[in-house]
Amino acid sequence: MPAKRDYYELLGVGRNATPEEIKKAYRRLARKYHPDVNKEDPEAAEKFKEITEAYAVLSDAQKRAAYDQFGHAAFEPGHGGPGGFGGFDFDFSDFGFGDIFDVFFGGSTTGRSRRTGPRRGADREIRVDISFEDALFGIEKDLELTRVETCDHCNGSGAEPGSQTKTCPSCNGRGQIRNVQSTPFGRFETVRPCNQCRGEGRIIEKPCSRCRGSGQERKERKINVRIPAGVDTGSRLRIQGEGEMGTHGGPPGDLFILISVRPHPRFRRDGYNLVTTLDISFVQAALGAEVTIDLPGGAVHNLHIPEGTQPGTVLTVKGKGVTHLQGHRIGDLKVIIDVKIPTRLSKKQRELLEAFAEAGEEPKPGRKGIFNKFKDAIG
Ligand SMILES: [Zn+2]
Ligand SMILES: [Zn+2]
Repeated sequence: MPAKRDYYELLGVGRNATPEEIKKAYRRLARKYHPDVNKEDPEAAEKFKEITEAYAVLSDAQKRAAYDQFGHAAFEPGHGGPGGFGGFDFDFSDFGFGDIFDVFFGGSTTGRSRRTGPRRGADREIRVDISFEDALFGIEKDLELTRVETCDHCNGSGAEPGSQTKTCPSCNGRGQIRNVQSTPFGRFETVRPCNQCRGEGRIIEKPCSRCRGSGQERKERKINVRIPAGVDTGSRLRIQGEGEMGTHGGPPGDLFILISVRPHPRFRRDGYNLVTTLDISFVQAALGAEVTIDLPGGAVHNLHIPEGTQPGTVLTVKGKGVTHLQGHRIGDLKVIIDVKIPTRLSKKQRELLEAFAEAGEEPKPGRKGIFNKFKDAIG
């Protein structure tokens, strides 16, 4: 496929063009390239289609913003970066001839044309709350959703079973209304879907008693979802085909699951590292110690506190963090050491601490035993 040309370039306007300038530019080019005015130029039809597509995007504030950000990729099926918008598929037929006539004559004639061909269902997003542990280890969850599906009673036809349908009198069953207009630029023939039968060509005499003629009903649906280890608040999982149903035989949209992780009382995450604060006594800090940490999920980790550990020291335990969503790497456990100073001392503890103070800050040869006595008395 040849590279698509820049929409602004196609319309010959700058990237800061106002909506009025874009409309003007399109109107000028559409007159020049309209196929009915250019029967002798076979390339005009293609050119007309190109500028019309460019106009359809740039005249819609939301689509224009998406195009400015992502370029043509914004309209490729399935586009949607991390945290980006879900992506919409640009469909040329969304942009009916009514819109083009609005541009020529400034009037609102038919509004947006309705499409009767297969159409993909809408995407939908739900939020799922999970525990901190479930985010670390992954979990399978049954989700109950309701979604609009084909009505079982009428099989989606909208007609009560056994009742008759009749040919639409407005369009004689064609589903379309043709309109020929003579304009200063030539003869224009427009085709738009019939309003009375909404493009179906047939009219229901007795609407379905269950869905009242819509052909659809809300249904409970249970789906099993595997939430992988390593997800965090803000992670979005895409479940293909579990969005809203398509219409006229179109495929369903996708379901997006937005994860929200409940906080843990003792642990938090820093990316794929697990962070916790551990209180130790000043004796443990001074002498060193072997302690245990209860990890989320029930495992116990033995941690060595080296002699002379200072408050605020971060001890790293490799590979005891969070599993990466992609790949097999695992983050680290970071233990921030907090040293607790006793607020009440027994008589004996006070005497020993006073003796410790007298011994001075620097250990002297022959007085090493004070550390062990001290540990026996307090620890
Ligand atoms: Zn029905
Ligand atoms: Zn009709």
